[in-house]
Amino acid sequence: METRRINTDYLIIGSGISALNFALRIPRNKKVLILTKKERTDTNTNYAQGGVAAVLDKTDSFSSHVEDTLKAGAGLCVKEAVEIMVKEGPKLIKDLIEWGIEFTKNETTDLELWKEGGHSKRRIVHSGDFTGREIEKTLMSAIKKHPNIRIFEHHIAYEFIEQDGAVYGVSALDVSTGEIMRVLAKITFLATGGAGQVYQHTSNPSVATGDGIALAYNAGCKIADMEFFQFHPTTLWTPTHTERQLLISEAVRGEGAILSDGDGNRFMKDFDERMELASRDIVARACDSVLKEKGYDYVFLDISHKDSTLIKKTFPNIYKECLKHSIDITKEPIPVVPAAHYMCGGVYTDLYGRTDLRGLLAAGEVSFTGVHGANRLASNSLLEALVFSTRAASIAQDWAVSSSLHKKLKLKEGRKSIIGESVLATHTKKEIKQTMWDYVGIVRRDYLLNRALRRFKLYKGEIEELFENSYLSRDIVELRSLVTVAYLITKSSLERKESRGLNYNKDHPKTEKEFKKHTFLKKEE
Ligand SMILES: Cc1cc2nc3c(=O)[nH]c(=O)nc-3n(C[C@H](O)[C@H](O)[C@H](O)COP(=O)(O)OP(=O)(O)OC[C@H]3O[C@@H](n4cnc5c(N)ncnc54)[C@H](O)[C@@H]3O)c2cc1C
Repeated sequence: METRRINTDYLIIGSGISALNFALRIPRNKKVLILTKKERTDTNTNYAQGGVAAVLDKTDSFSSHVEDTLKAGAGLCVKEAVEIMVKEGPKLIKDLIEWGIEFTKNETTDLELWKEGGHSKRRIVHSGDFTGREIEKTLMSAIKKHPNIRIFEHHIAYEFIEQDGAVYGVSALDVSTGEIMRVLAKITFLATGGAGQVYQHTSNPSVATGDGIALAYNAGCKIADMEFFQFHPTTLWTPTHTERQLLISEAVRGEGAILSDGDGNRFMKDFDERMELASRDIVARACDSVLKEKGYDYVFLDISHKDSTLIKKTFPNIYKECLKHSIDITKEPIPVVPAAHYMCGGVYTDLYGRTDLRGLLAAGEVSFTGVHGANRLASNSLLEALVFSTRAASIAQDWAVSSSLHKKLKLKEGRKSIIGESVLATHTKKEIKQTMWDYVGIVRRDYLLNRALRRFKLYKGEIEELFENSYLSRDIVELRSLVTVAYLITKSSLERKESRGLNYNKDHPKTEKEFKKHTFLKKEE
């Protein structure tokens, strides 16, 4: 099949909050092309329920938000990045409002601010319990008004066009036609989001396979702190496996929901005196322990003792979604399991989204700015995405590569290929997800991590061979990403011989001073 070439000023990979916000901040006369691998709203952003943390109330302060973030990060946050995020955030919330987003207001028409675990003040601005959907809708309608921004759906980027330490665009597959494209750009902005799909249970949609991490790692970028993966304690368990599990927001516990095991024991009393109001990582670890120890498939979360009208008003989306699975949360407990939720580590960037490679910027969940440290404070991720994609747009011109070099690039041939059975990809994908869940999950042990690493090294070799010798497909590209991310998380977890934040290792239960540092991994030549 022919290889098509496209030229643009700015190439954006992804269509979540980071990508769309970046696109809207580019000078209007520049040509912008957005590639996104499924439908435009298939993003983590679209599923965000809670909201965006920002200092908007008179009784709140920047120092308090900074302090809460640093506390959650367990000694590993980059303080300068946190301060930037907290101070620049409120102005960007106002921009969102100007672009037309409808955040929930209280009776006096001020913004209604929620308080979430780890925040000492009310500072979560939200649109009901479907904030992400509102953000995505608002940014998309602003994008539609831009004559110079084009979006190609069902286009998956699989390799950077990289030469001598600079990025000139990507190779991408048009999934609908099987056509391979080379997109050449002066600036490439990576906004591919997270990688929850590397685990068997996840709240992330199917697109979250860590492609951006794999692209950047394979091109020689530094990847940081991949051991810190946040698990959400409560997602809906269903008898048939779904690719994404519904999040049962922590606000449900905040409103008084009770966790119990299959025998009716309120098990949180054995783990923390705050019971269900303990922090996210403690509750996730408790659920994981009970499930593993007793061999249950799920535990129960029960809010049905509260007023049913209030439940429906406060959690309209959760109520509606659970009903689709024949569970009426106003009358019965919800079966729940913990699930992989947020990737704190990522592609290393400076405070303006610059990666190690000229021409390549990154922001959002794919990136590592250092704001989350060893544990993300709730609702700081949409804020981080907004702030650092805005900063990246502000310096993008100066980080551009020259388009005159495009003609001199050595581009690979399109592939002619042989191996066709997709069972190879589906089988290995299941093995990776299961191994990650069982050996590199919420509670870790060195011998399990070593077992996992041996397997991932083997899979990596096999998958690379498959990748080189197959007709390209979305499955093959994603499989290559998943094994790369699995390998990086496992290797980083083995390097951290301590327990800190989200990395809990039974063989190293204490937090050690000598490990108050980041874990960096780079591809060995
Ligand atoms: C259920 C849920 C609830 C959440 N709730 C909150 C919350 O309340 N508050 C908060 O702050 N955060 C929340 N988060 C986290 C937050 O939503 C994400 O961190 C944030 O939306 C990430 O935005 P992003 O722009 O970086 O990536 P995303 O929104 O995930 O977008 C990534 C995009 O990249 C595309 N893509 C990926 N790979 C490729 C490729 N190879 N080629 C082309 N396109 C590609 C995807 O298709 C997608 O369009 C939640 C996450 C989930 C899953």
